[in-house]
Amino acid sequence: MKKILLSLIFLGSSGGNLKAADASFDQLLKQISPDVKVQAPAPSLEKVSMSGIADDGRYWVTAVASDKQARTRLMEAGMDIVEIHGSKVSGLAHANTLKALSAEKSMVIESAITVEALHAALSSQKDFPTADAAYHNYAETTDLLKQMASKNSDIASLFSIGKSVEGRDIWCLRINSNAKGTAKSSKPGAFFLGNMHAREHLANEVPLLFAAWLMDHRNDADVKKYISTLDIYIVPMNNPDGVEFDIKTGKYQMYRKNMSKNSDGSRGVDLNRNYDSWWCQQGASHSTWADTYCGPRAFSEPETQAIKKFVEERPNLRTHISYHTYGGEILYPWGGSDDDVPDQKDRAAFIKLAGEMGKLTGYVARKSSDMYVATGDSCDWTYEAGKILSFTFELEGSGFYPGAAIITRTVNSNVKAAVYLLSVTDNPYK
Ligand SMILES: [Zn+2]
Repeated sequence: MKKILLSLIFLGSSGGNLKAADASFDQLLKQISPDVKVQAPAPSLEKVSMSGIADDGRYWVTAVASDKQARTRLMEAGMDIVEIHGSKVSGLAHANTLKALSAEKSMVIESAITVEALHAALSSQKDFPTADAAYHNYAETTDLLKQMASKNSDIASLFSIGKSVEGRDIWCLRINSNAKGTAKSSKPGAFFLGNMHAREHLANEVPLLFAAWLMDHRNDADVKKYISTLDIYIVPMNNPDGVEFDIKTGKYQMYRKNMSKNSDGSRGVDLNRNYDSWWCQQGASHSTWADTYCGPRAFSEPETQAIKKFVEERPNLRTHISYHTYGGEILYPWGGSDDDVPDQKDRAAFIKLAGEMGKLTGYVARKSSDMYVATGDSCDWTYEAGKILSFTFELEGSGFYPGAAIITRTVNSNVKAAVYLLSVTDNPYK
């Protein structure tokens, strides 16, 4: 899917030898730019209706939900809230969710359009093989990480933290001046995680290109200091199966979950409802077909189990960002409760750090549950289990498929925020 970019990368390397290829940050960004001039063709409705998305039973729904309780209830009914505009919300909901909601007098569904109509509405957006070729699929992400590790083998190493449902490795690039691979380190740790939700492709690009930026700038005084004093982990693609499913036909599937086969034959668990933090109590659904399906039990999924094991084995972790799209927000715990975190020192640090990173990105910093309450959230769990100051970034953009033009701007501002987080990882309370 990134044939243009890959062919450029391999220019000057004989025989496509990965070790000789250039994965530098500047070059990657430069190579992204030509792609944005390519205009995506409007999706063909005929073709869309033949693809998986048209017959998976979901609708693009606008509902009246004027407060947080109403929004939380919609999510419990299985609606995947994507946008909030005043008293109305929009997002994806299965036909079964609509049936359940229409039986509730208090719930007003304003419109529910078919996926064919949704695709027509999306016709101005870019499509993957041509206009969005700059985005990295799983194989390309894996190649880039391997290149970075091999070119910087004195400070970087690559290992798998576990396998996905379909057996893909979930790769982690570690940056540390002495400890390699899974060797223990007592240096304060920072953990960057991307692309938990399949369709949020920009959430892979940000941590992946941040890794490339760190490698390029490894001799800058401040970066050099972080590399020698911190233990930095970058897992850009947590849900490789879902990512590949979302793009494999060349038509986006608006797919969110992983690729688990549920007991009733339906597909997928919402990984960000599967963590053991008030698991499936509010803002999540027990219905297998729902986009907010929490799974049969907490940590039922290999992708969340891998993160659990990773975090539990590393008590040195202090700071964490989990990248999602979209909305331009920096969210801190709790997401699964209306309450503030009880530790006042942590709460002050959350507010300060989120605010500083908000200044660097232009994103709005706030408590995660200010929008709606959603339990089983990964950042609630990493904070509670590991005392890691954890932030959910909803990257900028006006949709899940904002096109390739957004990558450069988003990556550049997010590199600044990520570097800021590194600067406080030795003592986030200072
Ligand atoms: Zn997400």
